[in-house]
Amino acid sequence: RQKLKIGLIPADGIGQEVIPAARAAIEALGSEIPKPEFVDLAAGFELFSASGEALPEETVQALKDCDCALFGAVSSPVNKVAGYSSPIVALRKRLDLYANVRPVISVAANPEDKPDIDLVVVRENTECLYVKQETMSIGEHGKEARATRLITERASHRIGKMAFEIALGRPRKQVTVIHKSNVLSVTDGLFRDTVRAVPRVVGDGRYDSVKIEEQIVDSAVYRLFREPQIYDVMVAPNLYGDIISDAAAALVGSLGLVPSVNAGDNFVMGEPVHGSAPDIAGRGIANPLASIRSAALMLRHLGYAAAADKMDKAVDQVIREGQVLTPDLGGKSKTTEVLDAVLKRL
Ligand code: NAD
Ligand code: MN
Repeated sequence: RQKLKIGLIPADGIGQEVIPAARAAIEALGSEIPKPEFVDLAAGFELFSASGEALPEETVQALKDCDCALFGAVSSPVNKVAGYSSPIVALRKRLDLYANVRPVISVAANPEDKPDIDLVVVRENTECLYVKQETMSIGEHGKEARATRLITERASHRIGKMAFEIALGRPRKQVTVIHKSNVLSVTDGLFRDTVRAVPRVVGDGRYDSVKIEEQIVDSAVYRLFREPQIYDVMVAPNLYGDIISDAAAALVGSLGLVPSVNAGDNFVMGEPVHGSAPDIAGRGIANPLASIRSAALMLRHLGYAAAADKMDKAVDQVIREGQVLTPDLGGKSKTTEVLDAVLKRL
């Protein structure tokens, strides 16, 4: 690549404050990455309120011309608003970003020490109950609501393969497949068996060094809280993955710290795990570290490990020193001051 074309979609609330910080951190990198070129793109609930469109077609088309993207956060109204549906859910579908990858890593007191918590949740992003096929009927005893839960071999294989690939790049090289096939033997059985079969189906011994384990989802959450150290890469169907990754974020403190990427075979989009935080939006105190880490994760996914390491180290150092932190971490600093502290260490 001669240059790296990065789409920026700050969207709503604090997305407008933290995505510019992530951009500044990328701009501060040197020769670790090709020259970045940023493309500002619109989406979100605020845009919908003004124009009637939450995800303009131009945004989707422009993204197809980018190498990668960063997404801020959207506000989704609690009560259904006619004509509105979440642009992030739509984008995951339109760009076939089938994996949501969320590393949850604590910062050790000494840079030489291993972090106490260091795991990655790999969540299937396209099916399970999120196909949103719900029906209501009237039965003998009143209303009956039903939902379709779709699990396909194709989606289970590709998310399993993503988990194995991520495990290969980590020291412990362990994949834990999360399921409930003791009860849901058909759907979760297919998920578990397909993930377990990935090394054999891929062949060539590529994953010989990866250890595969499995856990029933409820006990997996229990053990996640009791002994998070037992996990390395956790791979799960959409709903379990959603719940487990939010729960895991609680283990490391603030939502303002946890990054993610939405990844497909041809595109990757970084996105902080947090939402638009209307309670603090516009005050300049949003924590930009989750977004900066999401930018690092996006670059790592594209193969720019040195750039990602450099950004992650700078963020860890700011957290470890504890002098310049936003209020969510008990500090008094502004978004821009935390960003400056990161830039100084880059
Ligand atoms: P939220 O993540 O926006 O906020 C939860 C709490 O964490 C708030 O007190 C907020 O101030 C704090 N917080 C979050 N990010 C922070 C940061 N970077 N720095 C400092 N504090 C931070 O969740 P919510 O309040 O439940 O939802 C608000 C809106 O965001 C809703 O409309 C919701 O639908 C949406 N949302 C969007 C996404 C997404 O875009 N993927 C995810 C979750 C929620
Ligand atoms: Mn969630």
